Amino acid sequence: MGRAIARLLAIVGLVGVWLAPRSAAAFCRTRLCDSPSSTVKCERDANKCATNTLPVYWPGPSVDFLVDARGSERRGISGQAALLTMERAFANWTAADCGPGSPTIALGGLSLESDESALQQALGTPGTDEPADQNVSVLTFVDDDWYPRSASAVAITTTTWGLQTARIRGTDIEVNSENRAVSLTGDGEYDLFSVLTHEVGHVLGLSDVNDPQTVMYYRYQARDAEHPLAVDDEQGACTIYPPDRFDKEGGGCACSVPRHGPAAETAWLSVTVMVLGFGFRRRSRGARN
Ligand SMILES: [Zn+2]
Repeated sequence: MGRAIARLLAIVGLVGVWLAPRSAAAFCRTRLCDSPSSTVKCERDANKCATNTLPVYWPGPSVDFLVDARGSERRGISGQAALLTMERAFANWTAADCGPGSPTIALGGLSLESDESALQQALGTPGTDEPADQNVSVLTFVDDDWYPRSASAVAITTTTWGLQTARIRGTDIEVNSENRAVSLTGDGEYDLFSVLTHEVGHVLGLSDVNDPQTVMYYRYQARDAEHPLAVDDEQGACTIYPPDRFDKEGGGCACSVPRHGPAAETAWLSVTVMVLGFGFRRRSRGARN
């Protein structure tokens, strides 16, 4: 899938996600129906959170990320600094307090990538539903030519999942370093750590909520670098990735990995949820299941 198509679909997804105002919610899981490709319309609760169709999730124990080594020249952020910030942002989610443990999801490989074609390949390849065959996810900055219809968004996270399995195949974070003064220090308008902490919530399968106490609040707000997550955020991660997740699926063996497996002015941070269904895969890549 070319980047142009990805962008087009991303914009479609963005509109779908962002036009509905939100009211307070504890946490909200992203579901199959949130995709513009879904044939089933979302039924939403009073908090505008979808209640029907399967919630999406990573089937494996970890997520691999490539970080664009160029970073953001416009904002003076090196790729290495972005990588370290990503590591910190992710660590808060994986350290969430689930009572008897932590969420069973980890940041796997995290490396700088300077090869433009490798980045484009990772950005445009949907992967499959198998954990071992997931697409590598990407963190990149867009210094120029940001999505014109989402000019006010600070970042867009595009997630791809199987239409029937709800298994996430890959996810890409793009930061709007063209229009937004993103900084490492928090001295700019937008603190990269706070931005990435929110976007990682989307990476894990959470949608926006309207509770300003939470990381998943739909508007940008700076977070405490030491303790950014609210209890509701932690509960979201713990619900999707409970500490005993692989115990159950692996018949008691914790070593087992399942094999089967905006447009709105106020939307400072945004997620785009995009689904590639079997139909698309048959046409473009060949279906495996
Ligand atoms: Zn968001």
